[in-house]
Amino acid sequence: MTDRTLVLVKPDGVARGLVGEVVSRLEAKGLRLVAAELRTLTREVAEEHYGEHREKPFFGSLVEFITGGPLLALVVEGPRAVEAFRALAGATDPVKAAPGTIRGDFALEVQSNIVHGSDSAESAAREIGLFFPGL
Ligand code: ADP
Ligand code: MG
Repeated sequence: MTDRTLVLVKPDGVARGLVGEVVSRLEAKGLRLVAAELRTLTREVAEEHYGEHREKPFFGSLVEFITGGPLLALVVEGPRAVEAFRALAGATDPVKAAPGTIRGDFALEVQSNIVHGSDSAESAAREIGLFFPGL
């Protein structure tokens, strides 16, 4: 069974030149690229993407951060793609993320944690529809 997930290299990851590192890791794992686009999110798309966090104290700051520069949006596919990429990314808090994961290797702060990966098949379908309505 082939699944798809939405991956973002967030603006901090793009600014730090980590696009190649992230793409290389997911390709090495066996996930395949289906779509890729460098873009700067509008506030509207950012608020929709992170809608589940609307009531959180960090929501305003998160929207500023994710709209603050270009990000790389990717759709990737493979067996258990959602779970596979979340494992590559590591825990949300990079200090708790295991070394060897993207966040564990390259980040220190919870907001600027380099990558996003959908957290379920339902989230993946919603997020892919938001970023790549043609897919
Ligand atoms: P994940 O990206 O691992 O699915 P969440 O869905 O919980 O994590 O949070 C979405 C994003 O919001 C995180 O990746 C991170 O950029 C940011 N974030 C989460 N928790 C905090 C926090 N306590 N303070 C600041 N930013 C946060
Ligand atoms: Mg999440």
